[in-house]
Amino acid sequence: MQDKIFDCVILGGGPAGLSAALYLRRANVDCAIVEKSALGGTPTNYCEIENYLGLGRVSGFELCEKFEEHVDNFDVKKFPFEEIESVDLVSPIKKIVTKENTFLARSVIIATGAKPKKLNIKGEAENVGKGVSYCAVCDGAFYKDKIVCVIGGGNSALEEALYLTKFAKKVYIVHRRDKFRADDIIQKRVFENKKIELLLDYSPVEIIAKEKVEVIKLQNVQTLKIKEYKTDGIFPYIGLEPNSELFSAQVEEDKNGFILTDGAMKTNIEGVYAVGDVRNTPLRQVITAVSDGAIAGVEASKYLMNIKEVVRK
Ligand code: NAP
Repeated sequence: MQDKIFDCVILGGGPAGLSAALYLRRANVDCAIVEKSALGGTPTNYCEIENYLGLGRVSGFELCEKFEEHVDNFDVKKFPFEEIESVDLVSPIKKIVTKENTFLARSVIIATGAKPKKLNIKGEAENVGKGVSYCAVCDGAFYKDKIVCVIGGGNSALEEALYLTKFAKKVYIVHRRDKFRADDIIQKRVFENKKIELLLDYSPVEIIAKEKVEVIKLQNVQTLKIKEYKTDGIFPYIGLEPNSELFSAQVEEDKNGFILTDGAMKTNIEGVYAVGDVRNTPLRQVITAVSDGAIAGVEASKYLMNIKEVVRK
């Protein structure tokens, strides 16, 4: 691997990265995907996706499995479970170092996605796995006939709260305002669900646990009064932060760390593209990630053709 130079290395194997790989391979570009866990990305943990055009309702896992199967028909080199340790994106031949390998590439597509934002309150970090979870699909079944508390007011919080009603006897949704930002159709389902109780205008301030989570302390944002609610599980869904730390010194980002691109997914560095949730985009959906990947795949192919012509001349 040390001497091989790939035409393109894709960092991240979620929908955006897989889509980029498909478009690159169809243009006969020699590419590899480096992914820190299994391929498929964050949507593998989504209970259900119902806004991917043409597919009706599908589980996130099923959809991502289909993406990978599709890409497998095009002979993409995949390097799962390789965590990137450092990158040089600025040199003409870019370098990506993992514990296992050093990848050299003429172009790079960053598709490393985003991770759940933390509440950053007392009792959160120390109780992950003991009642605090960022994945309802992974852990929901542990809460059969129990009480759980979902934090947030976006699509993720409301969709995952609905999913948790399959198991839990009661699901609180705690939101810091009195209006949700989730899609209307999801809000309607939440309002109609008898197992869900809304705790609006509340912010979580502390999680109390012995062996496991027992109580969440909430502060009313109007009155500042603190109330305690018994709960067995806490699922924060308060938005995303980009997996972009490794690139920050080299690519331009917005104030929240999302990578800035133009409409062709180009970053400030020649031959380096960013796609999906890690980039500064107005909409973070599977369908937009896949679209970003397609654009970057085509743009990177054009870029590679140009630099090869320059070398030949
Ligand atoms: P989001 O849309 O950014 O919503 C985050 C929610 O958490 C907001 O309601 C916000 O309150 C609240 N919040 C933020 N920081 C908080 C804090 N420190 N304490 C308490 N509450 C806090 O995030 P998301 O729901 O994770 O979704 C991320 C992206 O994925 C969005 O673009 C979303 O549309 C997309 N997504 C789409 C689907 C779908 O289409 N099926 C499913 C899941 C996610 P405020 O409203 O007051 O700011």
